[in-house]
Amino acid sequence: MIPYGRQDISEADIEAVVAVLRSDFLTQGPAVPAFEKIVADYCSVRHALAVNSATSALHIACLALGVGSGDIVWTTPITFVASANCALYCGAQVDFVDIDPRTYNLDVRCLAEKLALAEQTGTLPKVVIPVHLSGQSCDMAAIRALADQYGFRIIEDASHAIGGKYRNESIGNCRYSDITVFSFHPVKIVTTAEGGMALTNDAELASRMALYRSHGITRDQAQMTHAADGPWYYQQVELGFNYRMTELQAALGVSQMARLDEFVARRHALARRYDELLAGLPVTIPYQLPETYSGLHLYVIRLQFDAIASSHLEVFESLRAQGIGVNLHYIPVHTQPYYRKLGFKGDEFPEARQYYAEAISLPMYSGLSFEDQDRVVRALAESLR
Ligand SMILES: *Cc1c(COP(=O)(O)O)cnc(C)c1O
Repeated sequence: MIPYGRQDISEADIEAVVAVLRSDFLTQGPAVPAFEKIVADYCSVRHALAVNSATSALHIACLALGVGSGDIVWTTPITFVASANCALYCGAQVDFVDIDPRTYNLDVRCLAEKLALAEQTGTLPKVVIPVHLSGQSCDMAAIRALADQYGFRIIEDASHAIGGKYRNESIGNCRYSDITVFSFHPVKIVTTAEGGMALTNDAELASRMALYRSHGITRDQAQMTHAADGPWYYQQVELGFNYRMTELQAALGVSQMARLDEFVARRHALARRYDELLAGLPVTIPYQLPETYSGLHLYVIRLQFDAIASSHLEVFESLRAQGIGVNLHYIPVHTQPYYRKLGFKGDEFPEARQYYAEAISLPMYSGLSFEDQDRVVRALAESLR
């Protein structure tokens, strides 16, 4: 089966992890800060906190921004459930903003309309979480302008987008947001097996996220309520978690970062080939905003059903039967049973529903050969006949 995504591990990556196993520290050693510095420098951002997943990063980001019960957080329905769950962890409510039919990202016009309404009803969000779907940046300048007008904070879920750019600057620089989050799950662009990172330019937010990452415990005298009892002393000043990344993961991350630009360039070469090879088929290829350079985590096509006899499910099953591990990113979050129990009916956000009825993620990863890509296209053509 050709998967939709997979990791790209080199001998150098393996050696980097083995070297940690022979070293003094398996956790809380030098590799985590080294990884944080490499990513922070790459993104031109001041602070970077490595954690054990992007889900954890989203959680500590919400906590650092003070999200709690009585607050509302908005995100897009076309995302992985973690982008919304992070608000529920904090006791807040979640609502969604429908997607742009061209980019499949949160639609800024819908956001503006919903904000105007929410202002009248006193239900403005505390935080908005735009997700850079497939690696293509949302319209961050417009979202920033709305944040300034309505007073909400911004967490960019850039789980798909490390290595991408917006207006010629690295995604992750937090120019338009309070915090940006990356995922290093194996299907994402660079991997640490499991892992994530939260980036910010705000020292106060960075220090709060560092506390939440590790039990709410500090050894920094400035954060303590009274002088240390002795050299062993630490204080728990918040209720935090153990969301730390291990040294093995960080060493893998450091080694992977050396090939990040190469990975993204390869994904672009594959995307250009798909664009050409799919030209004659009844599918819509991804639209790219001119002001973005995508990390290209995913390559999502939409089936043009006015020209296709088979159903979405039949095309999927035909591709899977032909050994192509296609997938669907994502099931609209508000249609999940857990979210229906929270009051969503499932028929809201029509663009997201329409997208879900037509989308297919084709295989996209740096190790995908052009021969295998040709197989994918032949199988797709077959399944659409
Ligand atoms: C993968 C992903 C996450 C969660 O990442 P983990 O590192 O697996 O916790 C969150 N948001 C989006 C958009 C993702 O694709």
